[in-house]
Amino acid sequence: MSEKKFVYADHAATTAVTESVMAAMEPYFREHWGNPSSLHSPGRKAAAAVRDAGKSIANILGCYESEIYFTSGGTEAINWAIKGNARANRHRGKHIVSTEIEHHAVLNSAAALKSEGYEATFVKPGGDGLISLDDFERAIRPDTIQMSCMLANNEIGTIEPISELARIAHKHKADFFCDAVQAAGNIPIDIDSLGADMLAISGHKIGAPKGIGLLYIRTGCMVSRYIDGGAQQRGQRAGTENVPYIVGLAQAIKDAAATSTDKSRLRQKRDRLAAELLKIPFSRINGTMRQRLAGNLNMSFEFCEAESLLLLLDLAGICVSAGSACTAGTDEPSHVLKAIGLPENIIRSSIRFSLGDDNTDDDLDYIIAQMNNVTAQIRTLSPEYGKLNF
Ligand code: PLP
Repeated sequence: MSEKKFVYADHAATTAVTESVMAAMEPYFREHWGNPSSLHSPGRKAAAAVRDAGKSIANILGCYESEIYFTSGGTEAINWAIKGNARANRHRGKHIVSTEIEHHAVLNSAAALKSEGYEATFVKPGGDGLISLDDFERAIRPDTIQMSCMLANNEIGTIEPISELARIAHKHKADFFCDAVQAAGNIPIDIDSLGADMLAISGHKIGAPKGIGLLYIRTGCMVSRYIDGGAQQRGQRAGTENVPYIVGLAQAIKDAAATSTDKSRLRQKRDRLAAELLKIPFSRINGTMRQRLAGNLNMSFEFCEAESLLLLLDLAGICVSAGSACTAGTDEPSHVLKAIGLPENIIRSSIRFSLGDDNTDDDLDYIIAQMNNVTAQIRTLSPEYGKLNF
């Protein structure tokens, strides 16, 4: 048996802070720790860093600096967009449209709006995990004010047709929000070609620390203030800015822009992993392989509970997830796999490998060997598997 290694294959859950992000942030912890709202020179230095970060990000995403708002992460940005936009447009209607495969930040923000009299329609994806344009358009009502869809799904990695979906929303005078948290760093993000009015990104998925993210709000798109307090961030999101993390986020987005255009090597590695793991009996891939993030592989190994797989893989030094990190700890089967029509036994035997550029061929060989071991080990204890006649 191969020697125990440590293999991190859970990049969709979070990533390590990169050296370049650490280096960019450090001076803002040690030297330039002023409050960006202060008028003295350390304050002005901090304010300049926030402004420069906004300019750099805006340049890369293709928008204006004044359209970028820093948040505590993806979840806050999503809450702000969904609720703030719905509240600011309540005079036009109280119906919003999203999809069944969104992150819980979207699903629960929409659910929270119910108490304010809003209604939400969630569009079901096809069995491949993709949202159909016709289904999206059919969900629209005369009182629809907002539509949303994620750019890439966090569990099965499917890449949704955002520019077409945004066009449909605009045709019907609805604003369009896009959760780009999983897509950032994996595919280039150009806000104009996506056509989103609001878009969320999270730092910790792309090599910046946890606790920083951003919300893009197109000029003219109405979104009500989310945090009351001081006049920071053009009076829309109060609270002293987290200067080092904002600088770190700008560096991470710059680094991601340089690497996200060509993911062919990562895709090759992922495809090799998929081909090898499919040789394990009763295995299958969940979601289409056609329009999918290069590092994502979501697979089911029937007769193996995902929890058992995770535990044994962890003992072998391999980190993967069952579903998404955010639903870990709940006993609910994945809403995404349910939405694409998988039966419960397949859902409960599903795990997600999310590879990063740093995963080596040796890492893959190790995962393949360990997956063969652990599936065989778990199946010897499965009464259902034992009943099969080979
Ligand atoms: N949206 C998607 C698609 C995600 O995968 C995540 C995190 O896993 C989030 C939103 C939430 O982001 P954060 O962890 O920064 O709150």
